[in-house]
Amino acid sequence: MTTQHGLNAQILPNDDGLFGQFGGKIGHPDLARAMQEVEDGFREMIKDPHFHSEMRDLLKNYVGRPSPVYHAARLSEACGGAQIYLKREDLNHTGAHKINHCLGEVLLAKRLGKRKVIAETGAGQHGVALATAAALMGLECEIHMGVVDIAKEHPNVSRMKILGCKVVPVSRGAATLKEAVDSAFESYMGQLDEAFFAIGSVVGPAPYPEMVAYFQSVVGHEARAQILEKTGRLPDVVCACVGGGSNAIGLFNAFLDDASVRIVGVEPAGEGVDVPGRHAATMTRGVVGEIQGFKCYVLLDDDGEPSAVHSIASGLDYPGVGPQHSNMKDMGIASYECATDAECLDAFLALSRLEGIIPALESAHAVAYAMREAARLPATSAILVNLSGRGDKDIDFVLTKLGDKL
Ligand SMILES: *Cc1c(COP(=O)(O)O)cnc(C)c1O
Repeated sequence: MTTQHGLNAQILPNDDGLFGQFGGKIGHPDLARAMQEVEDGFREMIKDPHFHSEMRDLLKNYVGRPSPVYHAARLSEACGGAQIYLKREDLNHTGAHKINHCLGEVLLAKRLGKRKVIAETGAGQHGVALATAAALMGLECEIHMGVVDIAKEHPNVSRMKILGCKVVPVSRGAATLKEAVDSAFESYMGQLDEAFFAIGSVVGPAPYPEMVAYFQSVVGHEARAQILEKTGRLPDVVCACVGGGSNAIGLFNAFLDDASVRIVGVEPAGEGVDVPGRHAATMTRGVVGEIQGFKCYVLLDDDGEPSAVHSIASGLDYPGVGPQHSNMKDMGIASYECATDAECLDAFLALSRLEGIIPALESAHAVAYAMREAARLPATSAILVNLSGRGDKDIDFVLTKLGDKL
């Protein structure tokens, strides 16, 4: 059942911020107070009709929603089976789904009287989306980013700087997403009164997983109505890539009561799930554990610490995953499959060359799974893919990988 606030009851937390055994609230007293302020503000905001009219207006006239659902006919034909449909989040202003929750988070920060938003970023997409929303609403923005990702995703770093955002390079550890989260959190701890922590996915302590899912649920609500209108029926499969899991939960939420729809999250298998440290297939290879203030499936190393991870897509290389996904896996509500770096690159090129759509490397994981699955299913079946973002940010990197083959 979809509750009044737009999320299906199956993915709502209890009063302790738990989804089944996953998620949870933060223990540290100062942080707990700050999180409670965010949670109270969120619950109040979503009851306010003024917020809803402001959000509706921004999503329509600033982001360009609704994003279309597109029938990828040539890609489908090439796979020789089911019809593939793309929910075109890549067409949003700033090029990905992240603007949906960044607008919500910055509206909330402003409502709470904060001067500044702080966050981590992996591929830089969350950083750009947050810097955009902060510029729009006149708040300062501070983004922490691993130096490995800064080198790989430099166009997004330039964008953030142009938008007036302070980019903090993080060089500790593997210098990617997880370290950026740690660094951003430390900075936030020193300025709890003036700053709002704007997490970039359905991860972290309560209320973030629920709140980010709430802001992303627009994707699924639109997509379900659009595909029904287009095809007269529900899709057989809906799929999305899973880093933290925000674009996936945003799509999946609207289909959780549809027994005929198979829900599939696609994780990055990197160089293979059997190569330790060279994948980020958290659901496939993780164990129940804790990371950064919440419980979820997590990849741990021999010392019981979150392990080094890898994916060709910077936005997916995180050793944890959202608590809703962890719980959906255990409840059998959704299943989780993998795509390797190599499959991702194949899908990236296939979509570019057959449809003229250059996807984000993150999104290409979902496309890779859809292509594999389409080949197995009859032509009367339909697969709906969340095309979470566009690949402009990845083109130089792909060129270095595939240069000779292009
Ligand atoms: C950040 C990002 C992702 C991964 O984040 P989720 O929270 O798992 O959605 C996926 N696709 C794109 C384009 C991104 O920018």
